[in-house]
Amino acid sequence: MKILEKALLIEILKGLALTLRKMLFAKPVTIEYFDKVRPVPAPGFRGRHALVRDEKTGDTLCIACMRCVRVCPSKCINVEYEVDKETKKRKVVKYEIDALRCVYCGYCEEVCPVNAVVLTEWYEYVGLKREDLFFDKEKLLKNWDEFIATQKRPYLNPFWKPRGIPKKFLPAKKRQFTGV
Ligand code: SF4
Ligand code: SF4
Repeated sequence: MKILEKALLIEILKGLALTLRKMLFAKPVTIEYFDKVRPVPAPGFRGRHALVRDEKTGDTLCIACMRCVRVCPSKCINVEYEVDKETKKRKVVKYEIDALRCVYCGYCEEVCPVNAVVLTEWYEYVGLKREDLFFDKEKLLKNWDEFIATQKRPYLNPFWKPRGIPKKFLPAKKRQFTGV
């Protein structure tokens, strides 16, 4: 019994010594958030959704092709458009993403032929109510403005391009990417 107690005490002492060592010398794995911010976890990180703003028109680049709507596995994208009678071109009148249903697969940004919808590397976002994470067109454009203000221009993320598809089969806007 005494031997056992002694053995147990040694184990406790070892544990305490380890705790003390960690407390005094180990580098903390946490950071003082707000004062310090972690860099983006990895290239291609999929964060807050955005609609890229066309710098010429100030509006979205979206041409309402509906590819993102069709490919989204969560069915959380809703796009509505009207057709210009003269030019026969589509104009987006409603673009909505319910971010709470999104699984961040990135299919929408990969399939978009004009790089209009993207998942930015912005990860510091929260919602205190459901509507906060329901993004309409204006919010999505604002998300882009906030993100691009932190980036060098022109900004192109190679992860917007689908992988494994030969360049010749990609839409023109996707062919500008190399690598990945
Ligand atoms: S990342 Fe995936 S789930 Fe989220 S909106 Fe895009 S396609 Fe839908
Ligand atoms: S895939 Fe791109 S261009 Fe087509 S509807 Fe979606 S955001 Fe608009």
